[in-house]
Amino acid sequence: SAPGLAGWHLEHTYAKLPALFYEHLGPTPVKGPRMVVFNHALAKELGLNGAVLAEQAAVFAGNELPEGAKPLAQAYAGHQYGNFTGLGDGRAILLGEQVTPSGGRFDVQLKGSGPTPFSRRGDGRAALGPMLREYIISEAMHALGIPTTRSLAVAATGEKVWRQEVQPGAVLTRIAASHIRVGTFEWAAAHRDKEALRALAEYTLRRHYPDCAETDEPGLALLRAAMQRQAALIAQWQCVGFIHGVMNTDNMALSGETIDYGPCAFMDAFDPATVFSSIDRHGRYAYGSQPQIAQWNLARLAEALLPLLHADEKQAVEVANAEIAAFKTMFEQRWLSGMRAKLGLFTEEPEDRALIESLLTWMRDQKADFTNTFRELSQSGNTMLYNDAAFAEWHARWQARLRQQPQSMEAVAEQMRTHNPAVIPRNHQVEGALSAAAERADLSVMQRLLEVLARPYEDREGQAEYRQPSGLAPGEYQTFC
Ligand code: AMP
Ligand code: MG
Ligand code: MG
Repeated sequence: SAPGLAGWHLEHTYAKLPALFYEHLGPTPVKGPRMVVFNHALAKELGLNGAVLAEQAAVFAGNELPEGAKPLAQAYAGHQYGNFTGLGDGRAILLGEQVTPSGGRFDVQLKGSGPTPFSRRGDGRAALGPMLREYIISEAMHALGIPTTRSLAVAATGEKVWRQEVQPGAVLTRIAASHIRVGTFEWAAAHRDKEALRALAEYTLRRHYPDCAETDEPGLALLRAAMQRQAALIAQWQCVGFIHGVMNTDNMALSGETIDYGPCAFMDAFDPATVFSSIDRHGRYAYGSQPQIAQWNLARLAEALLPLLHADEKQAVEVANAEIAAFKTMFEQRWLSGMRAKLGLFTEEPEDRALIESLLTWMRDQKADFTNTFRELSQSGNTMLYNDAAFAEWHARWQARLRQQPQSMEAVAEQMRTHNPAVIPRNHQVEGALSAAAERADLSVMQRLLEVLARPYEDREGQAEYRQPSGLAPGEYQTFC
């Protein structure tokens, strides 16, 4: 195709950072590129020509570079399950930053694009199933209104990858506000390179927090801004029952987007102890632990930023501790307002927390489906859903609380419908879509699922099967990276 027709407008501001943060390197070509799924709606938002690009499997498999690409692998470190380690893009390549027609800037990254200097013992590749899982879940999260990286395409490679078994290989094109992670700051800190650290902090502020970029204290400004965004993000996860699965510090983005969908899953029956990931043996990243883990990760960010927080190390630590201590309240405020919205509460009363917590306790005791319980509450504000004394008592309290506020019951119902999804990516539906695609080359199951997940707050005909819980307990359903 003629140059420019595809709509690429790639810039490379990240590559102006100190060389410590990346290695110039391209994707490794594959045998048989073939487009599996292409996101036309996202292409349009990015100013890309979907009709042209959907035919260019070679670009999305890494065999050809888009116009203006300057590929690199990003360097970073991270705490994995609590242990510090050097990492970096072991199977991903950043092609550049697409500047959109409205002036947005988004990383275009190929994931599964071949080995890099950071691959350690890995093959640099990805299997089709997990890449399709990331595509489905990230697009579902976006439709739910939760900040997330997005998925532009999945291309099959025509090559095999060896995991627990032989699987078809694939490359995912991930679109992100950026790929700067808590671990990127840990990388700078581990090199004891204060100038690189400051450059990264200032760059991150300009890119993600332009309103507080004009500051003499980039470390403090960034820490506070990142904490606010993580508090908001994790509260949104908790409100839809999303379990990330691997909240290592290299998987926490400074943009505040959900990033790196590995063994993630949505909870069915409400239980804070829920874990799906096969590798999370001790339940470190259980649903109910996500807020504390976010705080722990942010403490690692603060630690990395210490040289920027105060010239005196002891005083820097005091500043960091005081800031990090504020996270609990920050998160709880976001969580309370998210839960109030789910229950149709517009005003704030001191007893709201107890009201919310009694519902959750009841749900846990009943093993009630998280998504369906809230959706049913929004649809039948005045009828009795459950023939159960404890529920009836709670329901009466809730109704009394609703009558304390000036808003009409119609407004309440509307608020609840737009905050309690009818459909989420149910684990068995996701698995069904992945196995149809990977084992039978049948993409229709996934396409139908994507259509349903694209409008999660609407009641549409013929969706009953997408609302069924999987019926599998977390012990019976395991996710893999
Ligand atoms: P993740 O658990 O996906 O966040 O990955 C943790 C680290 O392992 C990152 O540095 C990845 O780039 C790297 N990694 C994961 N899978 C592979 C692979 N197949 N080959 C090389 N590196 C990998
Ligand atoms: Mg990662
Ligand atoms: Mg990864």
